[in-house]
Amino acid sequence: MPRIAYVNGSYVPHHEASVHIEDRGFQFADGIYEVVACINGKMTDERGHLDRLERSLDELGIPMPVTRRSLQFIIREMVRRNRLKNANVYIQVTRGVAKRDFPFPVEVPPSIVLTARNFQFDNNKNVEKGVTAMTVADIRWKRRDIKTTMLLAQVLAKQEAMDGGAYDAWMVDDEGFVTEASSSNAWIVTKDGKLVTRNATTSILRGVTRTAFEKICSGLQMKIEERAFTPAEAYEAQEAFNTSAVALVVPVIMLDGKKIGTGEPGPVAKKLYAEYRAYAEGQRGEHVEWVANLDEDEA
Ligand code: PMP
Repeated sequence: MPRIAYVNGSYVPHHEASVHIEDRGFQFADGIYEVVACINGKMTDERGHLDRLERSLDELGIPMPVTRRSLQFIIREMVRRNRLKNANVYIQVTRGVAKRDFPFPVEVPPSIVLTARNFQFDNNKNVEKGVTAMTVADIRWKRRDIKTTMLLAQVLAKQEAMDGGAYDAWMVDDEGFVTEASSSNAWIVTKDGKLVTRNATTSILRGVTRTAFEKICSGLQMKIEERAFTPAEAYEAQEAFNTSAVALVVPVIMLDGKKIGTGEPGPVAKKLYAEYRAYAEGQRGEHVEWVANLDEDEA
């Protein structure tokens, strides 16, 4: 069965899918993206991801290429046509195809591409064993709240970390504070048990998983401190971890070659991982409204 992609209205075999060379996504990285995880057949936090997709488009003045309802349908078709149960669905929208020129083109429809790939959420080695990270300079632009396809700084950050022998990068701003990881939000658990993550301004991407954690943690009476922290504070932390729709909750067991806590995945990350899985699979009544399925939306 061939892998299927969606390109501007058509479902096509993945290996034949293509976009125009003058697509502004290719020419200028003039586009945005989202990733929705489907866990055991359920779309996790779909509403949050689609809200952020609309917000990113709005911030850049790109219209929605299809209605939200159609997009929800296409996402489900992608999971169905690729015969997936656990999947990451990537949605990319660009300002469209136009003769190369910097200003916005007039009356050009946006381009939309979806791809889906299998993701094995269970027996996830990174979640079970944790990963190492290295701090690198955050060289990105000032609107990190927009989820653009302009990911070169993150590509370089991750490669720098890998070249330095670490799995992931934690990016550090000009003031010396951690912003986030290369493709996830960064968290620490302080020695006195406080959860700390960077406040969501324009300097980081407000993770949809991070927002889910706000709900989950308030249900568990766990307080989150939203503030900037330094690598030095992270070295002294009891635990550290990353959150994202793709990676879920990944313990960071070593930062810049220094063991965090015991150097093993800690109890807070493990507990939050279990809670997040239960939340994503709709086992927690109080979070069910967050698991947006098309039928539930219709009710
Ligand atoms: N920060 C960055 C830079 C990211 O790329 C991502 C994942 N796309 C996140 C945070 C986490 O966002 P989410 O929880 O919505 O996947």
